[in-house]
Amino acid sequence: MSVVADVIQRYLPAKSKTTPSGWQSFNAVCCHHNGTTRDTRQRGGLISNPDGGVSYHCFNCGFKASWQPGRNLSYKMRKLLQWMNVPDSEISQVSLEVLRENEGVEAQERKLQLPVFNSVPLPDDAVKITDITDFDRYSMNVLEYMASRHLNVDDTDYFWCPSLGYRDRLIIPFYYDSRIVGWTARSVVPGKKPKYLSETQPGYVYGLDDQSYNKVFAIVCEGQIDAIHVEGCALGGSEISDQQAMLLNRLQKQIIVVPDRDAAGSKLVERAIELGFSVSMPNWSREINDIGDAVDRHGRLYTLHSIATCAEESPLKIRLQAKKWFN
Ligand SMILES: [Zn+2]
Repeated sequence: MSVVADVIQRYLPAKSKTTPSGWQSFNAVCCHHNGTTRDTRQRGGLISNPDGGVSYHCFNCGFKASWQPGRNLSYKMRKLLQWMNVPDSEISQVSLEVLRENEGVEAQERKLQLPVFNSVPLPDDAVKITDITDFDRYSMNVLEYMASRHLNVDDTDYFWCPSLGYRDRLIIPFYYDSRIVGWTARSVVPGKKPKYLSETQPGYVYGLDDQSYNKVFAIVCEGQIDAIHVEGCALGGSEISDQQAMLLNRLQKQIIVVPDRDAAGSKLVERAIELGFSVSMPNWSREINDIGDAVDRHGRLYTLHSIATCAEESPLKIRLQAKKWFN
């Protein structure tokens, strides 16, 4: 256990319970400091990560604080410790110890380390789609959306949440090493803004857990739903950060990037070339703009097959194909 996790455990409110996913919940200590009424429903949540990092989330007032090895103690983390009644002298000592540990690590070296992802909770009251026993019109809408996008309940753990802000959304959890480290909630109502509500961490790549040992290549696309269709990975945007590239390289597979057919996708192609990745721009018909469209039109199997067979490694050939693909 890290010094930070240790001090928190020692000052944790006596009445706490642990959920199956490893969250300790107890009456939040933050709310009345943030102008909200004091929590009496155990809406404060704490999780310890395997590397010694800790995250605190309050479902009452929304306060969050976390710490990861390699980082110094943040202002919010210090506040949290104060609110947990840790004496100031002890907070200073923990902070000093963390600082000393970090000084031993060269800053440059730290930058090249693999990113660390903290566990995060799904929206409050989220339930697995397969655990819903009583469907109302909102959860039915979500099911209908899934059917219309060819999403199946055995693709991944889809969630749904009955609360006002989320009931019109399909929630997709982001896993990393089997832990939930983020999520996206996609609107199922056409035209509803924002289309996505998400919680994500820098450097994260969706779908890495599914790139099993026996797969020869990993398909990398922009959006999570597209990734689900082809059991691939998603960048969560049209850029590949150095940390994302590091995580993809670590798979030790051929990486096949499938760009969306827009200006951002064309930049993604250049970045893929720079990283030595393959790019696939299948000869789909003109009105197909991404993997989702291709699946709607031709089904998953054909889409996957066309991506695999059109994967190109040579920068010259990739650039020639890109001219046609983006034209
Ligand atoms: Zn709070």
